[in-house]
Parts: sequence; structure tokens; C-alpha cells
Amino acid sequence: MSTENGWSDAHTSLMTLRERLADFNRQRDWPKFHTPKDLAIALSVEVAELLEFFLWRAEPDEKDAAAVQEELADVMICLVNLTQRLDVDLLAAVEEKIATNALRYPVDKAKGRAEKYNRLP
Ligand SMILES: [Mg+2]
Repeated sequence: MSTENGWSDAHTSLMTLRERLADFNRQRDWPKFHTPKDLAIALSVEVAELLEFFLWRAEPDEKDAAAVQEELADVMICLVNLTQRLDVDLLAAVEEKIATNALRYPVDKAKGRAEKYNRLP
């Protein structure tokens, strides 16, 4: 899937998204509202809105697919706004976390298991 302007996971960088969101927010004079606290709360609220589609069912209804997609986008927007405000390089942080998780969850101990790392055999 891609948008009319060609945006897609495969062809748009996180830096492009950061710049687009920064422009969007600046044009509306919103950065003054973007405290870390409020951005973190907004992120949590958007995640809760996403969770509503899973509440009391195994999967979201097919009729809600577009709304689920919108909430996923809201989560990403809030996350990117928060990382921008905190000056966090999100992809570098993710790469570091994957490396940490690789140590915590070695394949020979974690494969096919759902326990937290401190409960693995
Ligand atoms: Mg929302």
C-alpha cells in the first residue's frame, strides 16, 4: 500500500516522516503544546484507542480495518513526535533494543517460548 504522494514503508524514511510532522506541527503552532508529558499521554491514549478494537474479541472486525489503520497511524505520529521532542534517534534506539533482546532471548533458549527472559530455562 502507498499513498497518492508515494509514501510507503518501503520508500519513505523515518527522517522524511519526522520532517513532515515537524512542518505540520510548526504550521499550526503546536510545538508549544508538545511537552514530553503530554506527548507521552497522547501516545498512551492513542494506544488505548487502538486496543478498543481488540477488546472482547480475538481480532478486530473486518469492518473496522480502516479505523484500526488510523489508530496505528496516530500511535506512530505520537511516537515520532515524542522521540523528536526528546531528541531520541528512534531507529538507533530500536537497533540497540534488538541487540539487548538478542542477548536476553538466545534462540536456543527462547525459540517457541513466550516466557519473559528472566523466566527462561
Ligand atoms: Mg486516535
